[in-house]
Amino acid sequence: MNQSRLWKTFSALIAIDSPSFEERLFCDALKEQLMALGIQTYEDNAGERIGGNCGNLYSFLPGSLSLSPLLFSAHMDTVEPGHGKRAILSDGGFITSAGDTILGADDVAGIAAILEALARLKESGKPHRPVELLFPVAEESYGLGSAQADYSRISAKESYTLDLGGTIGEAANAAPTVLSFEFTVAGKAAHAGFAPKDGVHAVAVAANAIARVPIGTPEPGVTCNIGMISGGEANNVIPSLCKVGGEIRALSHTAVLVWWKKVKSIFEEEASAAGATVKAEHHCEITAYKTPLDSSPVRRFEKACERIGVHANIHSTLGGSDQNNFAKHGIQGLVLACSMHNVHSTREFCLLDEIEQCAELILSLILEETP
Ligand SMILES: [Zn+2]
Repeated sequence: MNQSRLWKTFSALIAIDSPSFEERLFCDALKEQLMALGIQTYEDNAGERIGGNCGNLYSFLPGSLSLSPLLFSAHMDTVEPGHGKRAILSDGGFITSAGDTILGADDVAGIAAILEALARLKESGKPHRPVELLFPVAEESYGLGSAQADYSRISAKESYTLDLGGTIGEAANAAPTVLSFEFTVAGKAAHAGFAPKDGVHAVAVAANAIARVPIGTPEPGVTCNIGMISGGEANNVIPSLCKVGGEIRALSHTAVLVWWKKVKSIFEEEASAAGATVKAEHHCEITAYKTPLDSSPVRRFEKACERIGVHANIHSTLGGSDQNNFAKHGIQGLVLACSMHNVHSTREFCLLDEIEQCAELILSLILEETP
């Protein structure tokens, strides 16, 4: 067991700013870490295509066992506030930020666990299966990086994505479709004092529609939110335009489409009743998947948990990850907890013991011989 090495790797990576679309320095440091382990890397040009300064990073470890390759993945970017991050280690291996930024354990904990597992694999000298690694950019932007990954380079059909909160042994086998939408309600401007009746009030139309939208949980397993609203020109003008944005998510892709149709109809009805028009735009940010509980990645995971003495707890999540994109490309897998807690907040923390346990789990998955 080598916690000081793990802490060194983790704290060094945390100290590098890596917000989405600005992963360059982080990626360079990660390349060095992999090279130090004797592992070659390849970077694609996803950055150019999504407006970032860095591509997705790939590595391939040939294995001497004639078993199918496994893909391990953890994303390189972080959310904000993520500039000037520092990892502070306290008693018991408790790690926090300095309080003014996120910590970035999402997803450096996953990357550090993978690197530690690879170091232990090398030290063990044991024969192992082929291992493929993918470190995507821009995961926090609805998996934009992994959506642009070059899947012709990946031969693995099974994956483990290290990117879930909770204790080690927790895993997500299903994640939702997330549909973002925006309505642009167009009414007619008029003077609010002299001729209010000459106008068509775009904000009032939007307000009437929003009041009818089933915000929250319209049915079990489906969530619906209105997150943005803007419109109007001045206090003395009947507003001619109002924009309303939101999202719908559910584990069932069909359910998302059904509720999108309903929400769209509400806006169309309210607009038509008031003599306004509405433009409805939507985009599926990520697509739902479900990895069956009797599939080989799940069974392998359960056995690996048993071997290292943790309880396998497999459930669905309403959050997306790069696994949503892997599933789209025929790679079946699980998203694994890797010690990240209170993510996307300045209260984010992780535990050195848990990251080490996660490294052991990864190693156990790599060395396992009978799927
Ligand atoms: Zn993450």
